[in-house]
Amino acid sequence: MKYTIIGGGIAGLTTALAFEKKGIDYQVFEKTPALKEVGAGIWLAPNALQVLEILGILEEVKSQGNSIDRITLGKSDLSALSDTPQDKVKDTFGYSTIAIHRAKLQQILFDQIPDHKKSLGKGFQSFEKLSNGKIKITFEDQSTTITDFLIGADGINSKVRQQLFPESQIRFTGQTCWRGVANFELDKAFQHRGMELWGNQIRFGMSRILKGKVYWFAVALDRANQKDDPNMVQEKLLGMYKDFHPLINQIIAATPKDKIMRNDITDLRPMKKWSDGNIGLIGDAGHATTPNMGQGGGQAIEDAYYLGLLTNPSSEEHAFDLFYKKRKKKVQAIVNQSWTTGKVAHWKYGTGFRNFLMKNLPKTFIEKKLMKMYIIEK
Ligand SMILES: Cc1cc2nc3c(=O)[nH]c(=O)nc-3n(C[C@H](O)[C@H](O)[C@H](O)COP(=O)(O)OP(=O)(O)OC[C@H]3O[C@@H](n4cnc5c(N)ncnc54)[C@H](O)[C@@H]3O)c2cc1C
Repeated sequence: MKYTIIGGGIAGLTTALAFEKKGIDYQVFEKTPALKEVGAGIWLAPNALQVLEILGILEEVKSQGNSIDRITLGKSDLSALSDTPQDKVKDTFGYSTIAIHRAKLQQILFDQIPDHKKSLGKGFQSFEKLSNGKIKITFEDQSTTITDFLIGADGINSKVRQQLFPESQIRFTGQTCWRGVANFELDKAFQHRGMELWGNQIRFGMSRILKGKVYWFAVALDRANQKDDPNMVQEKLLGMYKDFHPLINQIIAATPKDKIMRNDITDLRPMKKWSDGNIGLIGDAGHATTPNMGQGGGQAIEDAYYLGLLTNPSSEEHAFDLFYKKRKKKVQAIVNQSWTTGKVAHWKYGTGFRNFLMKNLPKTFIEKKLMKMYIIEK
């Protein structure tokens, strides 16, 4: 029985690797013609790292990324509201969080998939359910393929989902995010820290991803679909963050202008189903979340693991229904928590009260919640 995976992002490639290890027949199709050094950084939490360890690529991910041993939520002047050393996480799982360039992660995954099972430059266009139960897929170049099962791993704007569940809805948060990678070396004290600083309806996050490379993100309120003049975006950000600690402006200034990206922050309204018959959705295609908990990619990686675990290579039955049952509670809790966190971070009134709350949240409470989120069933 053959599985066709649409999308060679984190979800699609990790699923391909999980299927490869389990002996499940698959083929993965990615729209972009070549993997490029695009994107910025990504934080991979211990739940994602456990899966990557099971799949045999953890050491490579570690060697191309940077360990985050302390996570700090702070104010614009760099003072901490909450500061959580990751020692307990490390003791439990053997590692904490790894920050890595997205393109590096994607390349590591891509290199694990045999050439004959992956195709670049193949954009999915539509599917058709055939009377014999199989699925005919048509690509943008009008070529076709027949498959037994179809997996949509084509991200938040998934075309597979749009055809399967046309009523699904993307929600805009009212927030926009700029991202970049600065050519900058942080002082020793910051080299293994993940930081997010909350100002007045504006925030900034950063971490080192490699020696001399700092990944950062900047979030502010705005209307949807706004564009920046590429020549002015850096100056605009320098102005927006002028009241933050000078380190922030140094990081923005050390970023190549043409590498600064902008995306509106959106998610997918939680859906009652991620599959219909032999067509299923994984990763952002099924349950995109806002990035406030740094878990979208982690959940895509968990999807790959559990779908691989639940799928029987020799069975004519798919595991999409079991998979939804297994995953929905955790995923939806993350989507909801992340949405709320994003709103709190940009509260207009009561910033002092918000900061007081964040400062006084019991550490054990936060730690307990995180540890629970990091658990993978083996
Ligand atoms: C600002 C920001 C910061 C984030 N930070 C983190 C973080 O620190 N940690 C974390 O875990 N998560 C983070 N996330 C979330 C994470 O990026 C996503 O959840 C993750 O990329 C989802 O992976 P995916 O493979 O499902 O989708 P995507 O990464 O979107 O991949 C989809 C793939 O499908 C391809 N595709 C699209 N359409 C087609 C088509 N028609 N045919 C064929 N292929 C197609 C695309 O080219 C792409 O390669 C962040 C997200 C944002 C926006």
